[in-house]
Amino acid sequence: REGWLGKLRAGLRKTGSGIATVFTGTRIDDALYEQLEEALLMADAGVKATQYLLDDLKHRVKESKATDPAAVKALLVDALTELLAPLEQTLNVGAHKPTVIMVAGVNGAGKTTSIGKLTHHLAEAGASVLLAAADTFRAAAREQLMVWADRNRQGTGSVDIVHQAGGDPASVCFDAVSAGKARGKDVVLVDTAGRLPTQLHLMEEIKKIKRVVQKADETAPHEVLLVIDGNTGQNALTQVKAFDEALGLTGLIVTKLDGTAKGGVLAAIALLSRERPLPVYFIGVGEQLDELETFEAREFAQALLS
Ligand code: GDP
Repeated sequence: REGWLGKLRAGLRKTGSGIATVFTGTRIDDALYEQLEEALLMADAGVKATQYLLDDLKHRVKESKATDPAAVKALLVDALTELLAPLEQTLNVGAHKPTVIMVAGVNGAGKTTSIGKLTHHLAEAGASVLLAAADTFRAAAREQLMVWADRNRQGTGSVDIVHQAGGDPASVCFDAVSAGKARGKDVVLVDTAGRLPTQLHLMEEIKKIKRVVQKADETAPHEVLLVIDGNTGQNALTQVKAFDEALGLTGLIVTKLDGTAKGGVLAAIALLSRERPLPVYFIGVGEQLDELETFEAREFAQALLS
């Protein structure tokens, strides 16, 4: 466990957002709060979440009668943990067989990689997985998914893949869900092509994929996940809103938190989540098969402030 936390910490530290350095002084004064505001904004928390955290923190400082910055830092960890806590949830794949999980996102967010890792995570827990390569236009996307399937086969997993060059993405998904049912698979993971919310025809295409999945199994899809690049900053919120409107999301995966991502975006997502609850089922902390971790609010808050 230390491994991933270390990677997360190292990643967050790389950005030099320096939230922790705000608390190295000796006094709790306006300058401290101003520095903190700046550091939170630099860390991509956004204006709203930054303001929320500052207000909450000032309240906590008053209540606790804290007298030194180190104590304020501990109170910020508490405030952040409380804000992030609702994002912590376990992805449940036991209720339906197969559980159909659609995965969406913009190009390069880490969708295919996350699906590869998620396959590993599920296979380790004993689930049989069928992958649907619904990016039928890019040969490289299909091949990449096949590579991930192979990597998983070398491990514990039983992994099938349904793909079809140049075919209709929705029909590949229909076939995959039907095959998942026929073969008694536990999970069908649908990898869709990357798209921007502004590409309206592609947004229509992914809505159609969802409708067709529903035709193959009226209870499906059971999860619709959006993969977000942790480096995206406030743009992540725009993506969440747009994909949610189009598809009705059930959860998020935030990737690349081992890299230069500033981490604060999770606070912004958490604030958004108060109006529209969406769990962060997993975070990505590297490019390898096992570098997908469940999100834990307190550990994340501590890493962000370490
Ligand atoms: P897609 O277009 O959304 O399917 O994105 P890919 O899965 O192809 O990933 C794009 C790039 O991001 C690849 O080079 C991945 O190795 C990299 N990547 C994905 N997730 C992570 C992560 O959690 N950490 C790091 N460091 N790289 C990642």
